[in-house]
Amino acid sequence: MSIRHDVLFKIKGIDLEKVDLPKKVSSYFGENTFNAEAMQKHISKGTFEAFKSWLSEGKIITLEQANEIADAMKDWAISKGATYYTHWFQPMTGLTAEKHDSFISITGPGKVIEKFSGSKLIQGEPDASSFPSGGIRATFEARGYTAWDPSSPAFIIESKLGKTLCIPTIFISYHGEALDKKLPLLRSDEALSRAAVGLLKLFGHKDARKVVSTCGPEQEYFLIDKNYYNLRQDLVMTGRTLTGAPSPKGQQLEDQYFGTIKERVVNFMFEVAEEAYKLGIPLMTRHNEVAPHQYEFAPIFEESNIAADHNQLLMDLMKKIALRHNLVCLLHEKPFAGINGSGKHLNWSLADNEGNNLLNPGDTPEDNLQFLAVLAAVLRGVYLHADLLRASVALAGNEHRLGANEAPPAIISVFLGEQLTSILDMIEQGVKQKVSKKDIIDLGVARLPRFNKDSTDRNRTSPFAFTGAKFEFRAVGSSQNISTPIAVINTIIAESLDYVAEKIKKESKGKDFNTAVLKVISQLIKETKPIRFEGNNYAEEWVKEAKKRGLPNIASTYEALEALTKEKNIALFEKYRVFSKQELIARYHIWIHMYNLTLEIEANTLNEMVNASIVPAGCEYEKLLTDILGGLVSLKKSAKLALDLKALADQKEHLSEVVSKIYYVRRNALEMAKLLEKAKKLDGHARAKTYFEELKPLMEHIRRHTDALECVVSDEHWDLPKYREMLFVK
Ligand code: ADP
Ligand code: MG
Repeated sequence: MSIRHDVLFKIKGIDLEKVDLPKKVSSYFGENTFNAEAMQKHISKGTFEAFKSWLSEGKIITLEQANEIADAMKDWAISKGATYYTHWFQPMTGLTAEKHDSFISITGPGKVIEKFSGSKLIQGEPDASSFPSGGIRATFEARGYTAWDPSSPAFIIESKLGKTLCIPTIFISYHGEALDKKLPLLRSDEALSRAAVGLLKLFGHKDARKVVSTCGPEQEYFLIDKNYYNLRQDLVMTGRTLTGAPSPKGQQLEDQYFGTIKERVVNFMFEVAEEAYKLGIPLMTRHNEVAPHQYEFAPIFEESNIAADHNQLLMDLMKKIALRHNLVCLLHEKPFAGINGSGKHLNWSLADNEGNNLLNPGDTPEDNLQFLAVLAAVLRGVYLHADLLRASVALAGNEHRLGANEAPPAIISVFLGEQLTSILDMIEQGVKQKVSKKDIIDLGVARLPRFNKDSTDRNRTSPFAFTGAKFEFRAVGSSQNISTPIAVINTIIAESLDYVAEKIKKESKGKDFNTAVLKVISQLIKETKPIRFEGNNYAEEWVKEAKKRGLPNIASTYEALEALTKEKNIALFEKYRVFSKQELIARYHIWIHMYNLTLEIEANTLNEMVNASIVPAGCEYEKLLTDILGGLVSLKKSAKLALDLKALADQKEHLSEVVSKIYYVRRNALEMAKLLEKAKKLDGHARAKTYFEELKPLMEHIRRHTDALECVVSDEHWDLPKYREMLFVK
């Protein structure tokens, strides 16, 4: 019996203690966070006011006030059972990082007390030399600092034997360059706020002070049994299967999406939700996704930087809690070939300081005009900077979705839906007419459209779709930190909002404001037309059409990342102070490097699997066939066994089929080893190009042969868990 078969009998859920009456969520939501409410209880009124104005107006608090907050935070954390604290940050690796320190401080021989100072709260200094910096720091000045981000509440992470206070921070170099994903997001929010407030003021909102981006990331993931996972070195090493014959049943029956959630999985979901609620993460929706064993969690949207922290935390929770259920949570963009991969639909909008959503079409004409101006700015931003959006989601895992045969395509376009499209058409043509749908409003009298709030339709194939009162950027990878895509969206929209505001100012001088706005909008509608697409984004015709329109269609990560090195993009990010040139180029180098490392790990894993598992399995089976054939031939000779010659020929054919499959697998694996050797001499960019153009096709080629071998080798000799088992066995 193979080890794989052994495991098959061990597949089962864990026994859980039954909860008779689960707690009401509102009774414990956010209990493990030091949020404004908790802070207010523990500090003086003056300090709390100072803290609030730090957040809203940027007036930094004094060291005494920081000390007071630190002390309160420590007391709160200790009262909850925390013994350690850590600055929690998001380095360029895409993960989160922690370095724990105890609260203890020595007061005399053998004596300690719990202490935590304002300076320790505000600033930390993890040894930064092992985090990727893309050349920002020379090793002789490898200092890195973490600095408290007071806008994101500190929280407590619980494990069985203790608790840790985590303080969200940014991570910067000695000279203040961003070494993380968080600081650029915070900077982009400021840029967006300045630009959006400028536009709001034009529209008469004198009280507009601040605008934030809001975000609700829909998180897709797979769950598979841990026993299988542990037997698949490709999953363990790379997060995806590098080999594996398709199972006869995949997702073609469409019986998984929104199907009844299996009890084992729903138990996992309950536990994730409970832990998330304690941390103030507003999880809202959970359901089965399209592929077998694929699922989704979606939260209620929040301010982007909180949403980004929460999504990182959620991914950590999912991975951790899955293990408690004897499951493994796969966040890779394409864990299994032949069925859907996972993404993270990033729902994005803007909200002013009163909570009004600037992308809400509203139902009064005045709002509509402002909405249309914002909408036009979004269209312009996406049209001019589709290359940056593509770059913001460029990573090895996502390359299997974008531009491969998977949703969404690498061509960035915008879907608006029928109603908005007809309204934009009318404005563009300057006509006053009723459009076909009865819910679309007469442009007649006021020359301004009215909207029916809920009338947007859906186009699931669009990478950047308007869905009611927000845009949904669907190209983000499931494993990604959403901070970078948000920072890019914020920046390109900030630039366009400024542009629209300037245009309106010019046009409306001495003229009717509404007419001027309509004129600007109308012009933008014309200019940005190529970015709009309402049809099927997967169709071959769209690829041709997009080419005609001059839209970029970039399949490879290395080409997508080149956008970060273009002068016009560097100028854009410098102007809005989101990335300096150095920071941007550093990111380019880091991401190219990460791509290369990922591909090397994958290739080496595949190589080892071929040599240590797949070929040996093939050989064992080959030996079995050889023995049988040898036996038959010798019996034919010695005992005159009457053998049908056709049957004998068939046996031979079977054997030689196995022999040649093993040969092809091995030969291509040797080719791959040679290619890796050759690539060692290349610089980052050239190496990434080689990996995309040569290594990936070769790995696919090997896979076709290993998959073919898997289909002939006896089940008993095959040790790697099969697709049909990983994806279907309950
Ligand atoms: P859909 O059916 O279009 O996917 P949902 O209402 O289910 O829309 O929302 C999907 C995600 O979009 C949720 O996470 C939700 O919180 C988020 N979302 C809704 N409104 C906004 C907004 N104004 N800004 C950002 N995200 C939003
Ligand atoms: Mg959605």
